[in-house]
Amino acid sequence: DYALYYAKANSRGTAVLFTEEHERRLRTQSVIEQALRHADLSREMSLVFQPIVDVRRGRTVAFEALARWTSPDLGPVSPSVFVPIAERSGLITRITAVLLGRALAAAKAWPETVALSFNLSMADIASPQAAEGLVAAIRASGLRPGRVILEVTETALIQDVAQAQTVLETLKASGIAIALDDFGTGYSSLGYVHRLPLDKLKIDRSFTSEIIASPASRDIVTSIVGLARNLKLDCVVEGIETAEQARLLDNLGCVLMQGYHFSRPMGFAETLRYLDAEAVRSITPVQAVA
Ligand code: C2E
Ligand code: MG
Ligand code: MG
Ligand code: MG
Repeated sequence: DYALYYAKANSRGTAVLFTEEHERRLRTQSVIEQALRHADLSREMSLVFQPIVDVRRGRTVAFEALARWTSPDLGPVSPSVFVPIAERSGLITRITAVLLGRALAAAKAWPETVALSFNLSMADIASPQAAEGLVAAIRASGLRPGRVILEVTETALIQDVAQAQTVLETLKASGIAIALDDFGTGYSSLGYVHRLPLDKLKIDRSFTSEIIASPASRDIVTSIVGLARNLKLDCVVEGIETAEQARLLDNLGCVLMQGYHFSRPMGFAETLRYLDAEAVRSITPVQAVA
C-alpha cells in the first residue's frame, strides 16, 4: 500500500498511527458488509429523488433516484459508503433489483414529461443477461422505456469497453437512455466516449464547486459542453449550490442542471407536491387570462 509505504518511510510513529487508522477502516467496512448481508433490503433501503431541471424552460425534466440505507444497527449509512462495499461483496445486484422496481413505480406517478434517472453499478451491466434483466424489469413496470435514463460511470465502463458497448446497445435498442455519470473524473478517454451509445454526459460536481474560483474548471466545463454538442449528447451539470454557479453555467451553455440550489433530494410523496407546485408556477399571467 503506497500510503503505508510513505508512512513507514517517514517515521515509525506515523506508521503506527496509519496502521491503526487503516485497521479501524477495515473493521468498519466489514461491520458494514455484515450488516448489509443480513439486511432486510425491502425494509431498510429507500429512495430519495432529486430534480434535474431545464433552466431555460424552468421545468423538471427528470428525477434522479438516490439510494438511502438505514440499518437498524448502524443507523443511516451514506451510499458513497455502502455502494462500493455492496459492489465488492456482490450484493449490489440484489439492491439494484429492489430499488429499480421501486423507482419505476414512483416514476409512473409522474407526468409523461418527467423521466427517471437511475444509477447502475458495473455488476448491473456486466453481462448480456444482466442487461436483459434490467430491460425485463422496465417492461414489466409498464413505464415507457423512453422515460428511463440509466446512469453509468466511466469506471464501470472502462473495465471492459467491448462488453459495455454490447450491453448498452441492448438497453438502447429497448428505448432506454444512457447517461455517463461523473464525467471528467474518471479516465475520460475520448476514444471510447464516441463509440458508446450514450445520450447524456453528466459533468461531475467537482467542476461545479470550483467554477467560480477556477478559470481552469470553467474551461473544462466549456470544453465538455462543446464535446457534448458535437457528439449530439445532452449535457447535465450536477452539484449546483448557488445562483451564481447556475448563472455562470447558463452562460457557458449548460441547460440541464441538478443541485441543492434547485432542490435537495426528496421523498416520493414530496415529488408529487413539488411537481404540482411547479405546474402552478409555470402558468404565466397571459396564459392564466386566456
Ligand atoms: P451520483 O450518482 O453522482 O449522485 C449525485 C450525488 O450528489 C448524490 O449524493 C446527491 O445527493 C449529491 N448532490 C446533489 N446535489 C448536490 C449539491 O448541490 N451539492 C452536493 N455537495 N452534493 C449534491 P448521494 O445521494 O450521497 O449519492 C452518492 C453516490 O452514491 C451517487 O453519486 C452514486 O454514485 C451512488 N448511488 C446513489 N444511489 C445509488 C443507487 O441506487 N445505485 C448505485 N449503484 N449507486 C448509487
Ligand atoms: Mg448519478
Ligand atoms: Mg453524478
Ligand atoms: Mg458525482
